[in-house]
Amino acid sequence: MPQPVVTIAGRATPPGRGGIAVIRVSGPGVQQIAAAMLGKLPQPRHAELRDFLDAEGQAIDTGIALLFSAPDSYTGEDVLELQCHGGVVVTELLLERVLALGARMARPGEFSERAFLNDKLDLLQAEAVADLIDAGSRAAARAAQRSLRGDFSAAVLALNEEVTGLRVYIEAAIDFPDEELDLLSDSELRQRIAPVAASFARLEKTTRQGCLLRDGLHVVLAGRPNSGKSSLFNALAGYAAAIVTSQPGTTRDLIREQINIDGLPLHVVDTAGLRSTLDPVEQEGVARTRAQLGVADLALLVIDASEDTSDLAGIAGLLGEIPAGIPVLVVRNKIDLSGEPPGTAPESLGGHRVLRVSALTGAGLDELRLAIKTLAGFSDPGEGTVIARQRHLDTLQRAQAHFAAGCRVLEERQAGELFAEELLQVQNALAEITGEFGSDDLLGKIFASFCIGK
Ligand code: GDP
Repeated sequence: MPQPVVTIAGRATPPGRGGIAVIRVSGPGVQQIAAAMLGKLPQPRHAELRDFLDAEGQAIDTGIALLFSAPDSYTGEDVLELQCHGGVVVTELLLERVLALGARMARPGEFSERAFLNDKLDLLQAEAVADLIDAGSRAAARAAQRSLRGDFSAAVLALNEEVTGLRVYIEAAIDFPDEELDLLSDSELRQRIAPVAASFARLEKTTRQGCLLRDGLHVVLAGRPNSGKSSLFNALAGYAAAIVTSQPGTTRDLIREQINIDGLPLHVVDTAGLRSTLDPVEQEGVARTRAQLGVADLALLVIDASEDTSDLAGIAGLLGEIPAGIPVLVVRNKIDLSGEPPGTAPESLGGHRVLRVSALTGAGLDELRLAIKTLAGFSDPGEGTVIARQRHLDTLQRAQAHFAAGCRVLEERQAGELFAEELLQVQNALAEITGEFGSDDLLGKIFASFCIGK
């Protein structure tokens, strides 16, 4: 049985002192709460200066009241927003008053959840609201705004339309079995499949880029002590985040920093390096380096170019410490001492690209940034860039796998019905991305990560 809808309230602005604070109330009890606190209902969508009254009819504060009538509001329900003075006590008193009038405190993300349940936003858009709030770069904020206005949803829906077209076509063939064989072997079907496959590939690229923009790349700096890892870290960060000394073993703990390369967030971890040592503190540092390497998206192996690097066995040993499957860029640092030209070296090391840089002079750093972006598959964010999450990428890839499986049964067994069945799975997965199809568990998980009052 559906639960009766209760009225919820929350502080929409961050806790603490501020110029103003906003209390938001949504649900069927809004009009009654507004009447009790404001005397008479404000005209919907008109900012009205009002006293906010307590139970005795005394003003708790005077501020702006904004009423939105259902369904024309963020949540799709009646919504009241009270803009009060941004004091801790004032907002507490106002919230208490709203709760005494029958509202309950909203859970994190509950306003957006209601917006989703009332079809004001699809799930992609609701997630984009949180991503816009959390955006760590201008590029991420712009991309989140595009997702919020529906660009990403439109792309998913367009693909779903294409799949529907294909399903209608194949199901017509199944319904008229005499013609089935003809249809399955006809070239028109193949011609119809190819563009859908291309749309999948395009959307996967867009989604991957959106994920990178949101979540970034975990980069670990590894290498021998004194090769210049901390210096490189500082040069990439643009300021002295890590201690640089000529004494080996200075960086004992992990230092983390977020750097932005043209909108691509890099979560860089500067490590204690890899070397055998008897110092227990440093041993722990080396162990942490190994643990970081286990979860990295990219490792930068820093080598001191001013030293004799003919010690290939030693370098191979360092490379061997990096788990297989993690992309590696070898960085030959200190080229100001070795006299090598900056940029990509003609030779590779263990199959990995070698870049020559100087953390001291900055030579070669632009090439290094470009190499990192290229390796991540990140292109500079343009008009088509949207924000995306791992959930979207995983679900899209599941849809893509069903599509590929469908194409295979069609090709190998001429099995039109199985193809149609796979297409149905494709559509379910695509509908999961926008939230048309999905479990309450999934929704609960998504909205619980929102901030309170959103
Ligand atoms: P880490 O132990 O690998 O983190 O190395 P550091 O960043 O602490 O650097 C070790 C030493 O090498 C310091 O004295 C740095 O000033 C020096 N160094 C680092 N990068 C360069 C570079 O590109 N050129 C020169 N000449 N010296 C560098």
